[in-house]
Amino acid sequence: MRVAVVGGGMAGLAAAHELATAGVDVLVLEGSDRLGGKLRLGQVGGLTLDLGAESVLARRPEGLDLISAVGLDDRVVHPETITASIWTHGALRAMPPTVMGIPADPEALAASGIAVMPEPRILPAPEHDVSVADFVTERLGRDVLDRLVEPLLGGVYAGHTDQLSLRATTPQIAALGDDLVTAAAEHRAAATASGPVFAGLVGGVGQLPAAVADTDGIEVRLSSTVRTATRTAEGWRLTVGPTTDVETVDVDAVIVAAPAPAAARLLAEEAPDAAFALAAIDYASMAIITFVLDDAVVPEGSGFLVPPVDGTFIKAATVSSNKWGWVGDSGRTVIRTSVGRAGDATLLQHDDGELASRALADLRSAFGTLPDPVDQVVQRWGGGLPQYDVGHLDRVETVERSVAAVPGLEVCGAAYRGVGIPAVIASGRAAARRLLDAGTIEA
Ligand SMILES: Cc1cc2nc3c(=O)[nH]c(=O)nc-3n(C[C@H](O)[C@H](O)[C@H](O)COP(=O)(O)OP(=O)(O)OC[C@H]3O[C@@H](n4cnc5c(N)ncnc54)[C@H](O)[C@@H]3O)c2cc1C
Repeated sequence: MRVAVVGGGMAGLAAAHELATAGVDVLVLEGSDRLGGKLRLGQVGGLTLDLGAESVLARRPEGLDLISAVGLDDRVVHPETITASIWTHGALRAMPPTVMGIPADPEALAASGIAVMPEPRILPAPEHDVSVADFVTERLGRDVLDRLVEPLLGGVYAGHTDQLSLRATTPQIAALGDDLVTAAAEHRAAATASGPVFAGLVGGVGQLPAAVADTDGIEVRLSSTVRTATRTAEGWRLTVGPTTDVETVDVDAVIVAAPAPAAARLLAEEAPDAAFALAAIDYASMAIITFVLDDAVVPEGSGFLVPPVDGTFIKAATVSSNKWGWVGDSGRTVIRTSVGRAGDATLLQHDDGELASRALADLRSAFGTLPDPVDQVVQRWGGGLPQYDVGHLDRVETVERSVAAVPGLEVCGAAYRGVGIPAVIASGRAAARRLLDAGTIEA
């Protein structure tokens, strides 16, 4: 019995791992020439660094569980510092305590000089989904939205709060209830006691995909784009490979772990309602530009976020050599910047040299003098992050209903219920479990 997983990102690999450890043979078909999707290691200035995702939320178990299951526990580390700043009104300003940008300490907010908050309005949560911008502005004013919530959410979704769904992107804000600021203060007080928020791996989280793929029972084929998926009397027939040389692969069941546009194409025939809903999910393209410098003096802290209203080129900078001990041990300064947001495709039409020089100019404005980098790498992420726009969870329910009606078919990945690494791992594992529990496949 064999299951095909379409897409070798973390969601597909987590699904494959769940099936393989249950004794099922798994074939992972990955369209590109490497595994990992948005996780990727690369060389910058002689250092091996993450050029995509670089940290794992430790407050959810799924990421660390998988890391442990594939034997990477001894490399787990936590950030040396998570003190971040907001670069606004011409200075780097320490971020006051917040819950996803909702101020938890009005005095600290006022002292930071980041944003001016009017007297908070206490309003019941709306019954239907609304945009994060509408929700926050109505209760705490536009400045809190623009200079705290927007940059924080921009860091996760590379999107715009006036389109992003409150329910899908910030359930923790929705859960604060009517009195946001008081509840945020209580939430922060409870959270400080419960251990580190993030984890990473010495050598980069980009090591995880290969370690998972190494599991017994998982076969991986790279450069194997899946073009169609059709039900047969016995299971599923996939067409795979370049259009000039298509081959067929027969399997008992299939898990589609590709991003929404590819999933929509693959499901068009067998689950058209799902395909239609998936086609409506937009993606943001972005780029991560990593600089390695000698002898740079940068402030302490993990980096800064920039409110888009301030019109800078970069939207965030992480001082990786401050944040991760194993990067700092290199003796060099490593700074990673991100650029690009949903709907902002023109930005990425600049060539690599221009992206890097504009990002470096912003870093110099924020940090003061910086020496020329000894190396820099621009990693583009076209279609990097799905946009959970207002109504997203309704679309996801449509996909789930439509897919559930088709035996031997599952979907998983960042397009559905969370874009972070633990969330996509959970999504992959759940898809695998549904197949196992439905008895469509036997070990
Ligand atoms: C720049 C960046 C930084 C991020 N940083 C973090 C972070 O620090 N922490 C965090 O938790 N999250 C982070 N994220 C989010 C997180 O990394 C991703 O949401 C998650 O890894 C996506 O996993 P996935 O398996 O759903 O999709 P992907 O990683 O997109 O994998 C899908 C795979 O499917 C393949 N594929 C597509 N179509 C086909 C086809 N037809 N046939 C075969 N294969 C196909 C693709 O090539 C790809 O490899 C970041 C995202 C980006 C873009």
